[in-house]
Amino acid sequence: MATLKINFYERYATEHLVIDEDNNGLFCQVCSETHEHTHYTVRVDESGVVPVATSCNCPATKPCKHINLVNKFYARIYKSNVAKAEVKAVEAAKVEAEAAIAEAEKIVSQPVAVTPAKDMMLATLTKQQGFSILRR
Ligand SMILES: [Zn+2]
Repeated sequence: MATLKINFYERYATEHLVIDEDNNGLFCQVCSETHEHTHYTVRVDESGVVPVATSCNCPATKPCKHINLVNKFYARIYKSNVAKAEVKAVEAAKVEAEAAIAEAEKIVSQPVAVTPAKDMMLATLTKQQGFSILRR
């Protein structure tokens, strides 16, 4: 993520952003910084959590400032979506970590030398332990 500071052009262009849709999907019209009355078309892919600028028809090297501007704009608008997606990711990571811990505990709780019968009992025990972790 780039700096939070917005320069004058960025602010102006963001305020005058024209968002529209055609047969190819969502796009933004961003005014040019150097050419008056010129607008560039930034195509936007809105299939993800946050819409992402995919292309711009200006002559600059990509990603150009128009693409960056549109991405910043959507990042700001969709902040809550991003936060929600992050919470989901953290929760998924937590579940994964718990599973890994349960797996590790299983390995640790296994005595170095076990008879086959003891081993089977141990497996039943650790299985129940696994379920109690899921219920929490
Ligand atoms: Zn551009």
